[in-house]
Amino acid sequence: MPVSSLWELFLFFRGKGYTHPKISAHPMKTHFYHASILEACTYNHLTVDEIFERVKKTHPNAGYSTIYRNVEELALKGQLKKISGIGSKAIFEKVIDRHVAHFVDEKTGTVYDLEIPEEWIFSKLPRGFAPKAADLRIYGTVEKTVS
Ligand SMILES: [Zn+2]
Repeated sequence: MPVSSLWELFLFFRGKGYTHPKISAHPMKTHFYHASILEACTYNHLTVDEIFERVKKTHPNAGYSTIYRNVEELALKGQLKKISGIGSKAIFEKVIDRHVAHFVDEKTGTVYDLEIPEEWIFSKLPRGFAPKAADLRIYGTVEKTVS
């Protein structure tokens, strides 16, 4: 495609349906916040409320329902893992490795990763069991953290 001017280039991209998100006057595409949400949930265990607070720092116009929808989409796609925490609020984290075990502090609701390999848990299963996935949660309180 020969391009003789910037204007033609502009029209070319318009024709392809390309619009830069920052200059678009149209409503944000659904996937616009995916990267920010995944970043917030990297090595963090967050509720949708907490994710929303973090995304708002870089995207002040973000709406709660849009973020909520985006989080659910990412969970469906398998990029976020949904784990149930304390009470009715689900907690999300980015799927990075295959860590499958968590400790939930019932006092604060904080979720800690436990380095228990999936293979180890699977090795404890009776013969004939064919596991697909593991999700181990231990509840209690953190008396003191040893670093
Ligand atoms: Zn985790």
